[in-house]
Amino acid sequence: MPVFACAGCGAVITSAVSQVALPVHAHQKYGHELLPALLEPGTYAVDPDPSGPPWRPWEEVGVEEAEARGVYAPVHALSYGPPGAVAVAPGDVHGTVLIPERCDGYCLGLDGRDGPNLACAQCGCAVATRIDDCSYWQVVWLDPRAVRLISADEPACRVLSWEALREEQPGTPPVEPIGAWSPVWEAAVAEALAHLLAVSDGARVVVPDGSVADAFRPTLDALLPSEPPVKSLALAGPSLSATVADIALVPRHPQTGEAWPYGAGAAVPLAADVWMYLAFNDNRRLLPASGGLPDDVYRDDPPPLLPFGPFRPDWEVFLSTLARLPEVRQPWLRAIYDHVKEHRDSRPFWWCLPNMAEKGSYRCEQ
Ligand SMILES: [Zn+2]
Repeated sequence: MPVFACAGCGAVITSAVSQVALPVHAHQKYGHELLPALLEPGTYAVDPDPSGPPWRPWEEVGVEEAEARGVYAPVHALSYGPPGAVAVAPGDVHGTVLIPERCDGYCLGLDGRDGPNLACAQCGCAVATRIDDCSYWQVVWLDPRAVRLISADEPACRVLSWEALREEQPGTPPVEPIGAWSPVWEAAVAEALAHLLAVSDGARVVVPDGSVADAFRPTLDALLPSEPPVKSLALAGPSLSATVADIALVPRHPQTGEAWPYGAGAAVPLAADVWMYLAFNDNRRLLPASGGLPDDVYRDDPPPLLPFGPFRPDWEVFLSTLARLPEVRQPWLRAIYDHVKEHRDSRPFWWCLPNMAEKGSYRCEQ
């Protein structure tokens, strides 16, 4: 598998890594806790968009230049950092040293605000930015101008088939052990919602009762018209029977980033780990198939995890995704974008989404 090396002196600065798709939550900010590593050990992902400093405010950039850079609605600021930053797990980086004067952060760690904060230990060139402050996924972003990929002779990691994916990478549960909604879910659903609005053409989108409705319906109902015309939404993907819905919610492969091939018709990709859970988890608890355990063991089993609040799609991920879809230039969708942007603390991104794990148990704040 390939490694990354300092472009200045050639020193190898990562373990052997194989490429995966950039996770939807790569730039998410969540809560005020230390988050885990963004990527699994032994993997890397490339962000095709410009990222990191310097930043230029929207007013200074202007509509025309912003659109040329793939941003179609007002954002606070655009990155003029290099495109192609490479994310790796912090534990896969070695042979680097911190640059003390660039180790600023908001709270518990580094947030990369000053640009690259890791230098090659051999030659001193700034090569990467480590981010491990609270609210951020822990990651090292290799500067694409300062590193190069060295392909080793060994074969790259195999790409899992969709069927193997279901076996080897089962879905991510929606609730964290502390009772908070999974940040992965909040980001994945928010990203899919932005794409879903874009393909809805402004029509009402209806979702059959079930877990997909629990995650998507409140936001769709809040943002789209309540009257006809109507489009239907349903899961489609590996191991599911064919759907006849107008819009299919299909899995996006975590290694290749490709959406499951749906064929004709509108398809909206959803991060595979969340899609797998929606498609195949029925919330039934596993019981031993044979033999038996003392009653005490059953009583000691932890109850199913329940969230302590309503589900909220990630506001920033939703807006960031929508701003980068050319469809947002349509007046009806731009109006939705502006409304959500100006009303962060209101429905549907704050109050009033039902408790997915215990439907009907949550009283809406009107
Ligand atoms: Zn070097």
